[in-house]
Amino acid sequence: MPKKVLIVEDNDLNLKLFRDLLEAHDINVVETREGKLAVETALREAPDLIIMDIQLPGVSGLDIIREMKAVPQLVNTPIIAVTAFAMRDDEENILSSGCEAYIAKPISIGPFLNTIEKYINKDAPQKAAQ
Ligand code: MN
Repeated sequence: MPKKVLIVEDNDLNLKLFRDLLEAHDINVVETREGKLAVETALREAPDLIIMDIQLPGVSGLDIIREMKAVPQLVNTPIIAVTAFAMRDDEENILSSGCEAYIAKPISIGPFLNTIEKYINKDAPQKAAQ
């Protein structure tokens, strides 16, 4: 069964880049540009992984991550934060939100895909054993 990724990203170019990269690897993509729709979209779509832009209009992606990690249905869904911030303090702040990993923009394609692959398959052996 193909994996599904939810992308929360307000920038059209980044959204298209992420979508194209994932779809080229046979991953289904759902997306929203609206941070305030992120939680309900995640609950509806039940993605295998979420890519979360931190800089969204009117809302911090970090707050959305904290909100998602407080919801039982989403607590085990891996979240990869993407951010233009590259400072050490920011990295610690970002990881303290509860996301599994963070990627600095502009992204490098290889490491980006490796990170997605690493976390999207994390529960695969567990599912196979059921
Ligand atoms: Mn943004």
